[in-house]
Amino acid sequence: MTSSLTRFSAGARISTGWATRAVIAAALILPLGLEPALSAEPQPAKQLFGGMTLPSRTAPASFGSYAKGCLSGAVALPADGPTWQAMRLSRNRRWGNPHMIMFLERFSRDAAEIGWGSGILLGDISQPRGGPMLTGHASHQIGLDADIWFQPKPARTMSVAERENKPFVSMLDKTKFLTVNPERWTPTHARLLMRAASEPEVDRVFVNPAIKKKLCETWTGDRTSMGKIRPIYGHDEHFHIRIKCPADSPGCKPQVAVAPGDGCDKSLAWWFTQEPWAKPKPNPDAKPVKPRFVMLSDLPQACSGVLAAPSASEAASTFGGPVPASAPVSAPVSAFAPAAPDAIMPPATIADPSVPVPTRRPRAEAGQ
Ligand SMILES: [Zn+2]
Repeated sequence: MTSSLTRFSAGARISTGWATRAVIAAALILPLGLEPALSAEPQPAKQLFGGMTLPSRTAPASFGSYAKGCLSGAVALPADGPTWQAMRLSRNRRWGNPHMIMFLERFSRDAAEIGWGSGILLGDISQPRGGPMLTGHASHQIGLDADIWFQPKPARTMSVAERENKPFVSMLDKTKFLTVNPERWTPTHARLLMRAASEPEVDRVFVNPAIKKKLCETWTGDRTSMGKIRPIYGHDEHFHIRIKCPADSPGCKPQVAVAPGDGCDKSLAWWFTQEPWAKPKPNPDAKPVKPRFVMLSDLPQACSGVLAAPSASEAASTFGGPVPASAPVSAPVSAFAPAAPDAIMPPATIADPSVPVPTRRPRAEAGQ
C-alpha cells in the first residue's frame, strides 16, 4: 500500500515538470529503492484506492455506481459528535459525499430523539477517495453508503481501543434458521429502521431477511417506506443506509427504484427457501475462469483524476472542522469545477466546546 501511494503521488506530480520529477526521483523514489514511477504493471483499483489516506482537494462529487466508482472531495464525519461515535477508526472509512455526512449528522440526532441510546455507532462509509477496497465491501465506493451498528451509542466516549475491539452483536438467534432473537430485538430497533427508510434522500436500507420479516410481521404504523428496506445476506449486526445520487453529482449512476409496495412479498419469501443458501452446483463443463481484478480503467474516467489530485488535509475536510478561509484550491482535473474554499463544510456552531457541532448548509440540502 505504501509503495502504491508513493508511486501514485509521484506520478501525479510528473506533469509539473522535469525538475519536480528529478527532485522526486532523488529525494523519494531512489532512496526507497522503488521502481521508477509509472513503469510498473497496473495495479488493481482496490490497491490504488486502498492506499489513499486523504481525500482529493477537488469539488465534492460521486462518480459511477455504488459498487463501481469513486469519490471526489470527500468529507469525514468526525470520530465523535454529540449523537454519534465512529467505530474501527483504524479502517479510515469515515469519508463520504457531503450529502451523506449531513444526512448522518441529522439521522444520528433523530436516533437519539426516538430513544436509540444517545445516538448511533457508525461503521464504514467510504475510503478517502472512495473506490474499491482491499477488504470488506463490494459497495461503499462513492460515499453514499453507510453502516450503522445495531447497538446504540453509549453516553460515555469510548476509547480508540474499545472502538477497535467492541464485538458486534447479532440480532439473530443463531441456533435457528433466519430468526430474530426476541431478547435483543426491540420496538426501538424497528423505529430506527423505519425512520431511516422514511427519509426522502434514502434510496435503500439493507437488513438481514429475518429482520425484514420481523418488521413485516410487527410494524403497525405507516408502511409507505417499508419497501425501501431490502433483505440481503449478513446485515444482522448492522444495517446499511444508501442515499440517492445527489443532484450535484451528475456522474453518479442511480440504482433502479425499488418496486412499489412494502416488500413483504415473494421477494422476501424467497430468502426463506433453500435456494439463496445452497452452494452453487459445480458445472463440470465450465472452463476455469481466471479471477480478474477491477482496474482503474474499469471505473469512470473521472476516477483517474480523483486518484491523481492533490490531497486535502484531514482537518480541512472534516465536517464541522476548521474551514481554511483562504486556502488555495487546485483542481487539475478538467472534470472538476474548482471547489470554493468554503464549499467543503460549514464552520461549526459550538454548543459544547468539547464537541464540534456542525450546522447544515441550506444550499447543499436544496441539492437533494
Ligand atoms: Zn454496508
